[in-house]
Amino acid sequence: VIELRAINKTYGKTQVLFDIDLTIERGQHVVLFGPSGSGKSTVLRSINLLAEPDSGSLRIDGVEFGPGLPGAAAVKRGGRLELRRRVGMVFQQFNLFPHLCALDNVALPLRKVQRMSKAKAREKAAIALRRVGLIDRAANYPAELSGGQQQRVAIARALALDPEVMLFDEPTSALDPELVGEVLKTMREVAETGMTMVVVTHELGFAKEIGDLNVFMEDGRIVESGPRGFYDNCTSDRAREFLKAVM
Ligand code: ATP
Ligand code: MG
Repeated sequence: VIELRAINKTYGKTQVLFDIDLTIERGQHVVLFGPSGSGKSTVLRSINLLAEPDSGSLRIDGVEFGPGLPGAAAVKRGGRLELRRRVGMVFQQFNLFPHLCALDNVALPLRKVQRMSKAKAREKAAIALRRVGLIDRAANYPAELSGGQQQRVAIARALALDPEVMLFDEPTSALDPELVGEVLKTMREVAETGMTMVVVTHELGFAKEIGDLNVFMEDGRIVESGPRGFYDNCTSDRAREFLKAVM
C-alpha cells in the first residue's frame, strides 16, 4: 500500500501540488488524468522521490518517507536505491542507452541496483524480454527497434527489478498511432499479473478498461476521483469538459 498524505510541492515560487491525498492499494490500477501542467508527473515523481515533497508524507508498506521523518533520512543514506528498486518507472521518452543492445539495456540496472553478476543479470533480463514478447530482439540496438518495441524494452527493464509498483508517465504519447496498441497490450498483460500500477494516460479506452481508481487533477489539486465507471459518471464540470475536449 502506498499512501500520499497532504503532499505539497513548490518549484521556486510556484506551488505545483496542493495537499495531495492518495491511497493506492496493492494490486490496484490507478489512472491519473488532467490538463497539461496540472501536476500529474509531479505526483508520479513524488512516489519514487524523483520529486521530493516540501511537506506531507509518503508511506510505502507502512514505512514513512516524509520530509523530516526517519524514512527521509534513510532515503538520503542510500535507501533511495531501495525505493527505486521497489518503484519501477516508465517515461514518455524511453531513455534507452543507444550503445547497448536490448538485453544489456535490461541487464544494466540489475547489475547496478541489484549488484548481480553479468551472467545472472543477462539471464534475468532475458526472462523480462520474453515477458514483453521481445526475446527475438535481444541483440538489437535501440536504433534497430520501432518506438513501440523500444518502449516495451523500457517496460522490461523496469519489470526485471521485480518492483512492487509500476509508474507509467504517458508511455504511448511519443509513439506513432499504429504502435500504441502493442504497448497498451504489454501494459494490460502487466496489469493482469496483479501488479500495482499508476498510469498517466490520455488513452480513454485503456483508462476505462484498467482504471480501478481514476483521479482527475487540475492546477495541482485532485478535483475528483472515482472507481470503475468514473468516466461516464464524473460530476465535476471541469472533469467532464476535459474528457469531452481531450480524451
Ligand atoms: P503534462 O501533461 O504536460 O505532462 P503534468 O500534469 O504532468 O503536465 P507536471 O509536469 O507535474 O504537470 O508539472 C506541474 C507544474 O510544475 C507545471 O507548471 C510545470 O511547469 C512545473 N514543473 C514541473 N517540473 C518542474 C521542475 N523540475 N522545475 C520547475 N517547474 C517544474
Ligand atoms: Mg507530465
